[in-house]
Amino acid sequence: MSDIMAFLGLGSNVGDRQSYLQRAVRALMDVNDLRVVMLSPVYETVPVGYVDQPPFLNAVVAVQTRLSAIRLLAETAAIETSLGRRRSIVWGPRTIDIDILLFGDQVIATPELTVPHPRLRERAFVLLPLAEIAPDLVLPGGNMTVRALAEQVAGRDGVQPFGKLAWGCGEL
Ligand code: ATP
Ligand code: CA
Ligand code: CA
Repeated sequence: MSDIMAFLGLGSNVGDRQSYLQRAVRALMDVNDLRVVMLSPVYETVPVGYVDQPPFLNAVVAVQTRLSAIRLLAETAAIETSLGRRRSIVWGPRTIDIDILLFGDQVIATPELTVPHPRLRERAFVLLPLAEIAPDLVLPGGNMTVRALAEQVAGRDGVQPFGKLAWGCGEL
């Protein structure tokens, strides 16, 4: 079975946000049957939904994996827990959030997992970093490229370039 390319959305707005993103990337690199293949730049974003909380840092990571989507969700949930994620307020503050944005061209609609991520198309903090690593990608069932979708939302939600993720043990 050949590997599937999946895109993961990372977010953090508690504590040392850059460090949490970086630690999530390193933890993903340690997952069996999964290879991290691309890292987007980091963007800073004012919160949406539950707005009375600190700004987020967001990035998108591309991985290639032999895992099923549900196994990947279990791995990302375990990483969230290991990095101190506590589930309290919906859309509330969190040390780390890892969402499965896309899983190849699969369309999944189960109680645990909806892929493509249902709010992907409206979120500048997802589309802008995704467009930097996969501009020509067309979402399943769609006809616009990620680049075109990103252009539609650019400048929304106060999303700004922030920095870079490191591949190794170096600084961010
Ligand atoms: P949002 O989904 O709007 O970004 P959130 O990331 O804050 O909100 P969480 O509390 O992290 O939401 O996740 C709630 C549940 O969503 C998870 O327990 C998981 O089962 C489910 N879920 C459904 N689809 C996905 C997906 N594509 N990626 C990650 N989790 C998903
Ligand atoms: Ca999320
Ligand atoms: Ca989530």
